[in-house]
Amino acid sequence: MQNSLQNSELSKCEDVAESRVSFGVSSALALLDALKQNKIKDEEVWGLVNRLLVCNERENHWIGDDLHNTETGELYSANGTLSSCGSKLCPSCIVKASNRSRKELKLALKNQKLLTGEMYQFVTLTIPNPNLSLIQTREVIDRIWTLFRKRDYFKQKIRGGSKSEEFTLTENGYHYHYHLLCITRFLNFTEFRREWSDCIEIAFREFNLPCKFKTDDGLAMVKIKRLNSSVNGLKGAIQEVCKYVTKSDSWEKLPQKDLIEIVSIKRFWRMFELFGSFRTQRNANVVLESPNTFVTYLLTKLIVEILKYIRTGERNTILDTKQISDGECSSEIEDLPDKVPKRRKELGWRKYILENGLESYLEKFAEQIEKTRYARRCFLSIKYKYATFRTLDGVSF
Ligand SMILES: [Zn+2]
Repeated sequence: MQNSLQNSELSKCEDVAESRVSFGVSSALALLDALKQNKIKDEEVWGLVNRLLVCNERENHWIGDDLHNTETGELYSANGTLSSCGSKLCPSCIVKASNRSRKELKLALKNQKLLTGEMYQFVTLTIPNPNLSLIQTREVIDRIWTLFRKRDYFKQKIRGGSKSEEFTLTENGYHYHYHLLCITRFLNFTEFRREWSDCIEIAFREFNLPCKFKTDDGLAMVKIKRLNSSVNGLKGAIQEVCKYVTKSDSWEKLPQKDLIEIVSIKRFWRMFELFGSFRTQRNANVVLESPNTFVTYLLTKLIVEILKYIRTGERNTILDTKQISDGECSSEIEDLPDKVPKRRKELGWRKYILENGLESYLEKFAEQIEKTRYARRCFLSIKYKYATFRTLDGVSF
């Protein structure tokens, strides 16, 4: 029984990896085609497509069986990548970004307490499609959000929450919407929609866009769903809120001009944010998860001392480094989040291409990938001693 359960878990992981690879490869090939047909010369864009292709190679994806949970010893199956391109357009890498957001949101939720009359709600905010490019559409919706947040109505009704943006690419263009998971007072559906619609109208006017709602009552479509405040009740919403780009349509079907536009975005915006009462926790979290262990240590110590000083008035030397000076970081470090300190990056890949050209970059990149994948394989084998791993192209390690 145990074995058959494990086997089905493993084959599920394999299916997930397979579908990511197939979606990733077909998307990258669609992009490649768009670049060739439209004679795009921008080397950075070519660099990005190459990175996407490499990230979605079968040899980059692993599946593993019998990994263990370091606390409970429980065994499980998993899948992942050996190296990652980090692009928000990559089906393999976007998963990591949404996992990070999910973690941040869970932590913020842990620190919330509902007051009398408050509830958790899941809200979807939509706008009429302005028929603009993705970047312009995003500017418009961002403006609508700013207007909405400044309203007294918003301040009275919504105490805090998370906002994530999602765009669906379809054959008819983009559909942009926001998902909120928030703590609210009772929301009257019509009143809420009226406020949101009003902000849309103002923003559309500012951008000189015609604004027409296709609904019977002439208000924007909004969905409001009350959530059960139990962990399980919030789980689905957390999942939904941290999904980002939906990939309902295959990229091969998308207009090439849209594809070229999204790959040309040099810096993708942040697609997830916490606001109001959810935000306070986020700042503390960011500090505690600083990628540099030593900085984390100092910052944590600083916060602890400040809190102690506020509480007791007792002042200590804040940067007490006696335990570090002899190279021993002692248990304080071990208590901190289990994160490998990252090495300083030499030069971002975009900058490298600008300075040295694409050809030189691709050579360097191939070398880098080999080293990264080797290191990752070693790391996995050492961390999960009882596990067996193989890549999708069938190589065990
Ligand atoms: Zn990737």
